[in-house]
Amino acid sequence: MIDFTLSENDRDILEQIRREGLVTRKYARHYDDHEEELSPIALPEAAEFPSLPQRVMQRPAGDTGLATLQMLMGIARSWGDTVVLRYQGTALGNAALNAAGTPAQKERWGKTMLAMAITEPGCGSDSKAIKTTAKRDGDHWVLDGEKIFVTTGIRAEGVVVWATTDASAGRAGIKSFVVMKGTPGFEITRKEKKLGIRSSDTAALSFTHCRIPRDHLLGGDESIPKQGSGGFRGVMKTFNMTRPGVAAGGIGKARASLDFTAEALEQEGVRIDWERGRASRSAVEAKLIQMEADAEAATLATLRAAWLADVNRDNNLEASISKSKGGEVARSVPQGCIEVLGALATSRQYLLEKWLRDGRISDIYEGTGQIQRLIIARAIFGYTSEELS
Ligand SMILES: Cc1cc2nc3c(=O)[nH]c(=O)nc-3n(C[C@H](O)[C@H](O)[C@H](O)COP(=O)(O)OP(=O)(O)OC[C@H]3O[C@@H](n4cnc5c(N)ncnc54)[C@H](O)[C@@H]3O)c2cc1C
Repeated sequence: MIDFTLSENDRDILEQIRREGLVTRKYARHYDDHEEELSPIALPEAAEFPSLPQRVMQRPAGDTGLATLQMLMGIARSWGDTVVLRYQGTALGNAALNAAGTPAQKERWGKTMLAMAITEPGCGSDSKAIKTTAKRDGDHWVLDGEKIFVTTGIRAEGVVVWATTDASAGRAGIKSFVVMKGTPGFEITRKEKKLGIRSSDTAALSFTHCRIPRDHLLGGDESIPKQGSGGFRGVMKTFNMTRPGVAAGGIGKARASLDFTAEALEQEGVRIDWERGRASRSAVEAKLIQMEADAEAATLATLRAAWLADVNRDNNLEASISKSKGGEVARSVPQGCIEVLGALATSRQYLLEKWLRDGRISDIYEGTGQIQRLIIARAIFGYTSEELS
């Protein structure tokens, strides 16, 4: 039975993250205005807070599993800001390593911060259109191609790069490779300038005759099956855990916007009566109730996707549902709050206009909302990606 009851220890953890969030908000505007700067590995106040991951690992087993707690932590963190109190040393490529790496690879790179590079100038949603190539040459792979919009591409120590080993094989030919910074032929070509999450570094990368050892192929399987998608499906499993995480980020922005709006209305002497019946509800009350309900629905969808992972059940469909709903509230709720508050909400004195910009990404990276809805439809109606794309 699903049970999202939190232990006292869980509640303490979430409370600490919210307190940390208030610290990160102090730095939010600076790193929004100065996208060219990398935020520090740890903010000066980090020393005031004990290290969270260790506490999570040591928490006694309760009704709520670790993945579910991590989603709640993600919502609480994002409620603060995209500036992080301290980097934990992992990024999206680490999730790929955990999902598809061999035990030896996990041992070797488990503590290395790895970004993930899939997107190219001519390929985003349709990852089978990847043009970056990986060719075997003796005991090496030689990579050639360009990648764009790589989150933490500048800060990370290495990158998990998706490349095709045989373009004629479609998805089955796509493999992922660990490429460390400093490898000859691997260059950061620029830092992207963005609408939102400007404190998060996003890079364009190039690979020119970039030689990496043969055992840098994630999972180690060089075969290309005649049928099916081979190792591709395994790497795609990365997203079953990270998509709910992206949803959590979007929900955090929605929650922050709702809290800000409630406080701003209170300061203006507007009291929200949640209990008032439908017939006598004000337009503002109706709007806020709708937004609260949407944010709650997205939260429950996200916790369900994480709970399935906690009990070792497939969550491919639920991960996409959570991502679709989380991405939606990240857009609709800050936008709705701005409608309620009017001009005040657009002032750069506050963070609401920034949360609107920051939340937009939740519906884009790791598969856009449209792509999530395709995945959902395929899972429900039993279509393959060839049949419904
Ligand atoms: C800040 C930021 C960080 C990012 N970080 C990373 C990263 O770390 N690693 C990485 O590899 N990529 C990253 N990306 C890239 C991101 O994953 C892609 O932008 C995303 O997958 C969409 O690809 P695209 O931009 O090429 O859009 P396209 O695929 O060209 O799509 C354009 C529009 O068409 C829609 N669309 C496309 N195909 C369909 C379809 N079949 N049916 C219906 N609608 C469709 C899309 O939903 C979208 O609205 C990042 C992007 C941003 C902005």
